Amino acid sequence: MDKTQELFEGLPSVDEVLKSGYGIKWLGEHPRLYVLSGIREVIDLRRQEILAGTIADVSPENMARNIEATIERLAAFSLKPVINATGIVLHTNLGRSVLSEKALENIIRVAGGYSNLEYDLAAGKRGQRFSHITRLLREITGAEGGIAVNNNAAAVFLCLNALAKGKEVIVSRGELVEIGGSFRIPDVMVSSGAILREVGTTNKTHLYDYENAINENTALILKVHQSNYRMSGFTEDVSIDSLVSLGKKRDIPVMYDLGSGCLIDLKPYGLYSEPSVQEIVRSGADIVTFSGDKLLGGPQAGLIVGRQNFIERVKGNPVARAVRIDKLTLSALEATLFEYVDNEKAKDAIPVLRMLLEDIESIKTRTKKIAGLIKRHVKNASIEIMADSSQAGGGALPGKDFPTYTVSVRPEHISVNELEERLRKGDPPVIARVREGALLLDVRTISDKDAVIVADRVRTALS
Ligand SMILES: *Cc1c(COP(=O)(O)O)cnc(C)c1O
Repeated sequence: MDKTQELFEGLPSVDEVLKSGYGIKWLGEHPRLYVLSGIREVIDLRRQEILAGTIADVSPENMARNIEATIERLAAFSLKPVINATGIVLHTNLGRSVLSEKALENIIRVAGGYSNLEYDLAAGKRGQRFSHITRLLREITGAEGGIAVNNNAAAVFLCLNALAKGKEVIVSRGELVEIGGSFRIPDVMVSSGAILREVGTTNKTHLYDYENAINENTALILKVHQSNYRMSGFTEDVSIDSLVSLGKKRDIPVMYDLGSGCLIDLKPYGLYSEPSVQEIVRSGADIVTFSGDKLLGGPQAGLIVGRQNFIERVKGNPVARAVRIDKLTLSALEATLFEYVDNEKAKDAIPVLRMLLEDIESIKTRTKKIAGLIKRHVKNASIEIMADSSQAGGGALPGKDFPTYTVSVRPEHISVNELEERLRKGDPPVIARVREGALLLDVRTISDKDAVIVADRVRTALS
């Protein structure tokens, strides 16, 4: 019998592996489908290796190790935590905002059993799911009423459909923005059934442009926060205050799609491009829409606050049912909003705000710690601390640079792109930037508890 023949005969059958100690253990831990696929895959691979003459280790232990790794890969969840080392706090591709402790606890508390989601406990009959956040929204924003839906895109769509279907909505050409791949204000307006009435030019829109566009078919004046871009130079837009005065005079409601929807005043931090929701409500806007998972730092949601009569019309619209918020989100949202009752405390309790407003010295301390941990074990790369800047992301505070520190890693034996790939494909994945031959770990978005993990992943990726 030749060597190849001998190796083939040494291969176990799928059934033999299944009945072995390993097989029994795997079946206890993973779905049978994946155990079978894992065994088949590795046996097939062995056959090919034997034919090609490339097999080195034929021991059962080695085979079991390979099968186990294959089963674990097949049985792993697709959606999983990653470490964000990009410094972009609101990274839409990485899940946008990180929830607060209270929000996480509340999801578990509410979703593990039944709840009073739509049940009025005092009256003993059907209640309203929005009731759980309406009081908080009123207290925090000063608006008469408020509800929440799936996301802000849905909020805008719903408001336009409820308030302006078949009628004209006046909006400045300078505010017909695209926010992330598929959300374009003009497209959302058209699909909501509202008729877009563009006024002004890309760089300048005046109050008289709005004034002249008003006719008997006008249902709404819409202002849109430009979010992810800034214009500079010869530009002019009309303030919300002026639009509100015009709306009052001509009896036309005014809606402001704020996008980010910050609930604290960022001006003391030198951040002027995001008006707070409270400011806009105070200006007298009739309807204000904003995201739950941008600067607010909560779960994906779209919040609608404003005058009660408009809120009622929006609530009663059939689209509201199609974009309604679920209990997991609602539980996280209520807990997140609760943090804002004490405005000062929100800055510490809400991770998004904590990361954005973190003191540069504190970032530096953590950067030194991570760099130190990496240096201790890594000899085949040069490790440096670099001053740099991060972005808010999520269409919030565009063009604003936040001073930060990064750990720069320049590998000696592999390319920096290879290092980036290994970090991205590892467990947990670490997502970092590459610039000018160095891998940069921006420490703004790396939590203290992840510092050791990041250092360990870099060490493994370089070995
Ligand atoms: C981000 C944004 C939206 C979309 O909000 P989502 O919560 O992502 O659906 C809509 N309008 C503006 C101005 C935005 O910045």
